[in-house]
Amino acid sequence: MKRLFFAFGTFALLAASCSSWSSSERELINADGDVMRVLTVDNPEDTLVLRTPCTDFTVRELKSKTFHRLAEKMIATVTSPEQDGVGIAGPQVGIGRRVVAVQRYDKPGKPFEVYPNLRIIGHSGKRQLGPEGCLSVPGRRGMVRRYQRVDITYTSLYSFKDTTETVNGYTAVIFQHEADHLDGVLYTDRNPYPAVSLKTASGASVNVIMLHHGSVAISYGDYMIQVDPVAEHGGVKVDYSLFPKPDLILVTHDHGDHLDKATISSLSLEKTELIQSLSAFKKYPYGSMLQNLKFFQLPRNIGLSTIPAYNVTPEHKQFHERGQGNGYVLDIDGVKIYISGDTEDIPEMMYVAAMNVDLALLSVNQPYTMTPEQCVHAASMIAPKILVPYHLGDTDMQSIKDTLDARNSGIEVLLFEELR
Ligand SMILES: [Zn+2]
Ligand SMILES: [Zn+2]
Repeated sequence: MKRLFFAFGTFALLAASCSSWSSSERELINADGDVMRVLTVDNPEDTLVLRTPCTDFTVRELKSKTFHRLAEKMIATVTSPEQDGVGIAGPQVGIGRRVVAVQRYDKPGKPFEVYPNLRIIGHSGKRQLGPEGCLSVPGRRGMVRRYQRVDITYTSLYSFKDTTETVNGYTAVIFQHEADHLDGVLYTDRNPYPAVSLKTASGASVNVIMLHHGSVAISYGDYMIQVDPVAEHGGVKVDYSLFPKPDLILVTHDHGDHLDKATISSLSLEKTELIQSLSAFKKYPYGSMLQNLKFFQLPRNIGLSTIPAYNVTPEHKQFHERGQGNGYVLDIDGVKIYISGDTEDIPEMMYVAAMNVDLALLSVNQPYTMTPEQCVHAASMIAPKILVPYHLGDTDMQSIKDTLDARNSGIEVLLFEELR
């Protein structure tokens, strides 16, 4: 509670002898303990509360002891070690009222502050794509487009008058996320694509964004990478307009679900570096061609290694011949990401194993790439911290996770329907 140093010193607390708090609200707020239970989407009853739009407070309610206690508890909850969030909204603690506790990154000391009757009434600046998570959606992150600047209105806890303010930057993102909660909206509703966020040694984030099938994007600060960008495959479209134009495009091989000339040319600017495998370069002779088992140094201290990608099953060898396609290992400020390309569990994956990769994207689908069993074998060989099966088609990907979990592999397996 030591972080609770903001608004309460100056207003008198009035005893709320006849307020409109419901008995269940009072019960939740006055229960023992400083930390409240956070509702999650894993629980159907919680989901109902999270999806219900909230109601406003009266000034009388805001002056009550009950509100004071609620504000204290919301801050204690969001700052508790097990939550460690940057914002929380009423419905997340079971209170269907318009109130949020938000960390003000734009103020000295980055205090948490409480805003009753919050609404966003205007916005300006471009919408930017950034990673978000939510205390009510455990274990996931995703990319969301938010405005850089918003105008908010709320009831001041000093004057009890409606107050407006303009908020910028990351704090504006937090306000947009929390205001959504008050309307029953979760960030996953606005999340076009899920992402895995990895931290570099220097604390920067590398976000690997799962687009579709064999296509992924990687953002590192303002550096943007597109791997096998394909605007449409199997009737699913990828909205590349959400992303800044890439600094780097990697193409693993020449098949239509990996090499899409029209998308590459629409994404390419003067600054864009295009790196392709031998087979892709033969069909689309632009940019640079890198053969298997080469190393390439890119700007921003990004290293790129090429790994072979090919079929070994005798009756499948015609799909991908050795030497034609590339897998890639990106080393971004020490964060290592392996994108296998279309391949089976080949012996050259031992090179990848030696690199200690953080995240491996392994291609699974029949008859072109790996079976779930081969994927388990490849993952065991490479031993990444995180495995994401991709290029899925109609593969049963759950069996990959179940098998690796049953073997206590220590590999975190993340499954994304987007990658079918
Ligand atoms: Zn292929
Ligand atoms: Zn493919």
